[in-house]
Amino acid sequence: MALQEITARVRAAERAAGRDTGAVTLIAVSKVQPAERVEAVLAAGQRIFGENYVQEAQGKWPAWKARFPGVGLHMIGPLQTNKAKVALDLFEAIHTLDRPSLAERLARLAQARGACPALFIQVNTGAEAQKAGVLPDAVDGFVTACRGLGLPLCGLMCIPPESEDPVPHFSALAGMAARNGLKGLSMGMSSDFEAAIAQGATHIRVGSAIFGARDYSTRADG
Ligand SMILES: *Cc1c(COP(=O)(O)O)cnc(C)c1O
Repeated sequence: MALQEITARVRAAERAAGRDTGAVTLIAVSKVQPAERVEAVLAAGQRIFGENYVQEAQGKWPAWKARFPGVGLHMIGPLQTNKAKVALDLFEAIHTLDRPSLAERLARLAQARGACPALFIQVNTGAEAQKAGVLPDAVDGFVTACRGLGLPLCGLMCIPPESEDPVPHFSALAGMAARNGLKGLSMGMSSDFEAAIAQGATHIRVGSAIFGARDYSTRADG
């Protein structure tokens, strides 16, 4: 199945980049995918999955978590502040921390429960008006603010502009992470994960290359 092929390509890209085997975490992005495709990938042994919508994840994952021990969910879509509490219960990592109000909410909730998911700050490396994320100029200040709130920052995340070569965006993100002492780099999708691994990605988010194309016409919620 496609999962084995993608895993083999990840391992080969790690080797080619002189990285340790297993240095890169493959997040299987299961948003909007039919249940039978997700179950096949679970049965094949994949345990880390990415979701974009809190309600969708809340609806489908509790039953799979019970059936397949060891599942970890990563939130990779925009997170509304009023869904932060549900997200904390559901996800072991959030890749889309992108504003002070969300940081403050997560810090309050994390303090109350004594635990917090691993957090990645989303950076809008292409400064695209329609895209979420902290602008490159504001990253260092936002990292400092998050640390001041006691948040467990794991790294940075980006989604390069669709029409551009992603490599300069990946390398810029790596530079921002390094100068801020952050090890995690969430970057690379189906079409460019090998290039991302060459630039130091620690977490790649791969959907359609594993599951096949998404059919948004059947989606139940937003
Ligand atoms: C949907 C999505 C992905 C996966 O995209 P593919 O091209 O299907 O691999 C990765 N990252 C984010 C943030 C996404 O929303």
